[in-house]
Amino acid sequence: MAINKDGYQKIMGELNTKGVTLVAVSKTKPVESILELYQLGQRDFGENYVQEMVEKAKLLPYDIRWHFIGHVQTNKVKLIIPFVQLIHGVDSLKLLKEINKEAVRTGRIINCLLQIHIAEEETKFGLDESELDMLMKNFSGLELKSIRICGLMGMASFTNDMDKVRSEFNKLKKLFKQYQARYSGFQILSMGMSADYKIAVEEGSNMVRIGSLIMGERTR
Ligand SMILES: *Cc1c(COP(=O)(O)O)cnc(C)c1O
Repeated sequence: MAINKDGYQKIMGELNTKGVTLVAVSKTKPVESILELYQLGQRDFGENYVQEMVEKAKLLPYDIRWHFIGHVQTNKVKLIIPFVQLIHGVDSLKLLKEINKEAVRTGRIINCLLQIHIAEEETKFGLDESELDMLMKNFSGLELKSIRICGLMGMASFTNDMDKVRSEFNKLKKLFKQYQARYSGFQILSMGMSADYKIAVEEGSNMVRIGSLIMGERTR
């Protein structure tokens, strides 16, 4: 199963001129595919299962920046803290506290994005606006010194209605701007996947997470 080199180069061309970071989502893909992309210069890779990311990181070059894009369970946090670059899916204070605890133990500062629920589907994780507000207030009072909240992450509805997708991304962008005005550390807006990254970038995303379009279709 080969990676889509032409697709990758084309997407990189589009994103580079706009200053958008590409996280290549390598979940379910073999280390050989990751290496192929690495040899083209790709360094940011995203995984959404802890065990899988840990196993792959052991086998691959040290300068890969690993993004955890799934939902981390509290009891698995300690496995990724020693090497993770950015945790995209944080949506509770409990998780932030656990990340901080392990970060202190490891002597690292951990970059996190708060996941916002923008889609209509009930099953997706994430905070709504009032939950975000409350979390940020509580966080500010807690002095979790080994956590850096760098911005927001969201996933649009799984639909062919691209106007709907656009309006969800637009909503997230507005929220991001509001918080950016108050918290200097807010710099990353992670939104956009294979099917909707162009719209996400038009709506202000500066980090996209693309899997199937460059690494091939997945069965799970
Ligand atoms: C799998 C996944 C992606 C990439 O999905 P594609 O449609 O293959 O681009 C992006 N973000 C998250 C959170 C994912 O789980």
